[in-house]
Amino acid sequence: MIATNEPDYEVIVIGAGVAGIYQIKRLTDLGVNATVLDAAPDLGGTWYWNRYPGARFDSESYTYGYSFSKELLNEWHWKERFSGQPENLRYLNFVADKFNLRKYMQFDSKVEAAQYDEANNLWRLKIADGRELTCRFVILALGLLSIPTLPRYEGMDDFKGRSFHTFYWPHEPVPLAGKRVGIIGTGATSIQVIAEIADKVGDLTVFQRRPNWAAPLNNGPISEQEMADIRSRYDEIFAACARTPGGFEHEPDRRGFYEVSREERLALWDRLYDEPGFGIWLRNFREIFTNEEANAEFSRYIADRIRRRVKDQAVAEKLIPRDHGFGVQRVPLETHYYEAYNRDNVHLVDIAETPIVRVTETGLRTTERDYDFDIIVYATGFDAITGAFDHIDIQGVGGERLRDKWTDGPSTFLGMMIHGFPNLLMPAGPQSGSASTNYPRGIETGVNWCTALLQYMWERGYSRAEPTLEAEERWTAHVTQMYAMMLMRKAKSWFTGYNSNVAGHEHGKVRYFVYNGGAPKYVARINDVAAKGYEGLTLSSGAAIAAKPPLAGVEGRAT
Ligand code: NAP
Repeated sequence: MIATNEPDYEVIVIGAGVAGIYQIKRLTDLGVNATVLDAAPDLGGTWYWNRYPGARFDSESYTYGYSFSKELLNEWHWKERFSGQPENLRYLNFVADKFNLRKYMQFDSKVEAAQYDEANNLWRLKIADGRELTCRFVILALGLLSIPTLPRYEGMDDFKGRSFHTFYWPHEPVPLAGKRVGIIGTGATSIQVIAEIADKVGDLTVFQRRPNWAAPLNNGPISEQEMADIRSRYDEIFAACARTPGGFEHEPDRRGFYEVSREERLALWDRLYDEPGFGIWLRNFREIFTNEEANAEFSRYIADRIRRRVKDQAVAEKLIPRDHGFGVQRVPLETHYYEAYNRDNVHLVDIAETPIVRVTETGLRTTERDYDFDIIVYATGFDAITGAFDHIDIQGVGGERLRDKWTDGPSTFLGMMIHGFPNLLMPAGPQSGSASTNYPRGIETGVNWCTALLQYMWERGYSRAEPTLEAEERWTAHVTQMYAMMLMRKAKSWFTGYNSNVAGHEHGKVRYFVYNGGAPKYVARINDVAAKGYEGLTLSSGAAIAAKPPLAGVEGRAT
């Protein structure tokens, strides 16, 4: 059949962050007619937006960078073991410029809607500026923490000082000297901000609803010599990341928690507490994640470390979580966070005891008293995992809306495709491997899988791919079932879809957001699907369109 309605692009990637940058590299290397759209004025995603003081990796920098190019690995020098936002954004720009990717990117291009046109087997995208673009495949590289959420306090617009969510921390420097600052929230973001600004502001008041378990980042510079050593070991480093559940170099301690003496456990924890990065979480005994008693013993150990670092024991007790154990929520890593509370200008307000009742013209009012501020910082988190998907009006076959399908939580095939939404791919979607691991490692896996699927289709003349309902249900059941073993299912955190600021997410109903089987099992599973000719997907030549294979010199063989 003659093509009657060729799309503008074979592939449109939405999102120019870590995933979108690599995805467009892979596609344009294949000579595919593809573009990236991003709502932001420039590339970088997470690292474009989050410019708050203290924003930095808590993955080792050299495990966060892309692994796909030896040349790139050899040219980039990470300056710190856990690199800060300005350098991270420079890195992503360096990558885009080195591979000449910017010309495929369109900024200030917020996608408001994406509708599948069944008759023509293409996607119609509506951009906020009024444009309509069409493509055969949409790749959603939206990020899992890219829709910030604010509390719903009365009077938020009345405040006469400056106020912002950490995600929108202004790009120009914010004068902090002598300022009275209030910060709401004590998640990973706030824990970075507080430690960084405590000695730069006049006065800092932290409004904490629930404390988080945090542990030291133990950051440090990387010298030329160390970087040379890292470069020589990159293969080994990435092999280790591929072997470990979290996609880090940190391998779990495979001894049984109760097989070793308490003295041995303490010796391990003393060592891990002083090691850089997530070792304290991921090099630990596996029972920490699954066994209440083991978790409680370890949590008591961390509580003790907090007590030793905070001088005022009443404050220390408030900083120790009571409603969940260590590691069942995402663990924030910190640099002198607890010591910030030893400063005279830093105050902790427990808003579980004295809730915030409103924002006033001059600050915040709790049930106890009024606080005056020059700046209010909302470090109140994200509409995590599915938020960015819900924000685009995505309509699949028969006009079914993705946000309706996912009202009670996502259901996907491998975290990368969705029944009823053909040709829609998510290299790092809900229920994929990347959501619960070192993101870029998972992202590379996802992008490679999506690209291989497209190549497979193009080489064979297929133009339509959709997972069967049965395959999707099987995957979602598998993801759900793994939560049963994990203590994290009991925690009120974004891992399980809790967010008090998002309608429908405030009651702690568990949403099965992340794949908990670890990177190696995930990769084995998705590779197996590919090896079996994409078992679980229905591949066809699409309706009314003869696919014009975008790969130069490849014959179309539609079946
Ligand atoms: P978060 O972990 O969801 O923390 C949000 C904080 O705001 C919580 O303390 C929450 O309290 C509080 N909060 C929310 N709404 C509130 C309200 N209406 N009133 C009072 N308090 C409220 O968000 P986040 O700190 O931005 O971190 C999100 C994720 O981003 C992290 O878990 C991590 O994966 C990622 N992150 C990574 C890095 C890094 O790589 N270095 C750094 C920062 C963040 P409750 O706990 O009571 O809900």
